[in-house]
Amino acid sequence: MNTPDLKGKPMKTKIITTIGPASSDYNTLEQLLLEGVSIFRINFSHGTHKEHKQTMEYIHDLNRKHHRHAGILADLQGPKIRVGRFQQESMLLTKWETVTFNCLDLLDHPGHIPVDYPGFAKDVSKGERIQIDDGRLMLEVLETCEATGQVNARVLYGGDLLPRKGINLPNTRINLPALTEKDHQDLNFILKQKVQWVALSFVRSASDVVELRHHIASRLQRKAPLIISKIEKPEALMDLSNIIDKSDALMIARGDLGIEVPLEEVPLIQKKIVRECMKKAKPSIIATQMMEGMVKNFSPTRAEVNDVANSVIDGADALMLSGETSVGHNPVRVVQVMKKIIEHVEKTEDLYYKELPAEGNKRSRRFISSSVIYNACEMAQQIDAKAIAGLTNSGYSAFQIAARRPKANVYIYTSNRSILSKLSLVWGISGFYYDKFISTDHTIEELLLHLKKHEIISAGDMVINVTTTPLEKDGKTNMLKLSMVQD
Ligand code: PGA
Ligand code: MN
Repeated sequence: MNTPDLKGKPMKTKIITTIGPASSDYNTLEQLLLEGVSIFRINFSHGTHKEHKQTMEYIHDLNRKHHRHAGILADLQGPKIRVGRFQQESMLLTKWETVTFNCLDLLDHPGHIPVDYPGFAKDVSKGERIQIDDGRLMLEVLETCEATGQVNARVLYGGDLLPRKGINLPNTRINLPALTEKDHQDLNFILKQKVQWVALSFVRSASDVVELRHHIASRLQRKAPLIISKIEKPEALMDLSNIIDKSDALMIARGDLGIEVPLEEVPLIQKKIVRECMKKAKPSIIATQMMEGMVKNFSPTRAEVNDVANSVIDGADALMLSGETSVGHNPVRVVQVMKKIIEHVEKTEDLYYKELPAEGNKRSRRFISSSVIYNACEMAQQIDAKAIAGLTNSGYSAFQIAARRPKANVYIYTSNRSILSKLSLVWGISGFYYDKFISTDHTIEELLLHLKKHEIISAGDMVINVTTTPLEKDGKTNMLKLSMVQD
């Protein structure tokens, strides 16, 4: 078994970095990986397939070189509406002036703002708000004309308008499909690569997630990526429980969410989503502006340090960096600073051992494994176990253990590399490749030796093993063993 250097306490909360021009070279990717990045996010709103392919190849190569299994998250743009292209460098919008948006004719008409969504004039109505460029510019719709595709609007907050900036319509029901033509093309590319997580932007209801899952399943059965729903629309909050059920993880996408709902609501929404996800053993990710100041500055602001710390305390599985690592001036330092905050905050006892009942239905397929895992975590708390080590086939037990937020370190072994990279996103899980299926006794013996050899556990430590007996490749967790590590 090849093992990266694991001495010391692994971070429980995972770091996701967005890769962009500031970080897509081999050296920076290598440093990011070695500093503790678990998941690399590729944002399909930017860049070309050729660039993304190169980045992914570097990541695969680095994983092999350093015996890691950092995962790749492909983030689909989803139904995002943008300002079209125009000749001038920028257009100045002045307060109270009336401007015309044009969604059918994208030619460059002086004074007209092109919009890349043909249904724009049909969907928006008088009195609704149009926000552009992360809410920097705000307009109010005065009148719409479906036939000409024109919308007149009054500028409420003005400023310079640049081409290709994003448009948010917080009060409008947008009729764009969950997956646009661009998303289909990107998905075609993504499903040919080794990608473990796909994020869907602007999810509005659970059916959007089901649609994406059908698309993926129709093309890939084995090694299909898992789905992250990005919560950044008010409609999604109305269907939150179903969205969690249908997704494999959620992202609190605070960038767009903070435009689409009143800003002051975002902190409580964040706490609620993290809590609801944990109850259902689905990972949650907190995204956007965590260390925004570090795009330019050497250090984060006090408020940013607080935000990172509080997100760890809320119990998120992963914290995501966007501009800080994709276009920021020092991506590696950002990760170092974030890691320091996470490691420090994880010393507080408040984070650990969350109440999560076992599956109550004896007829459920998962009843036995769920009960074993529940008891393993209870026992770990009672006896102050150093580690929980287990074998997984589907990853199910790892998600279940993580959701209980044990203080004991969790080491998960599997013969499926794709699952290892998926688990890189999950709170507290350290994963290893292991493909021997001799017997349960033999496996437990080997896992303990492995952990001891790497000084992860030492004599006198209590360790809990969860695995299956008799040992079968597809077996579900059905046993728990407690041992004290011997000299
Ligand atoms: P984005 O998503 O960076 O793709 O917009 C994250 C967010 O909106 O916060
Ligand atoms: Mn977004």
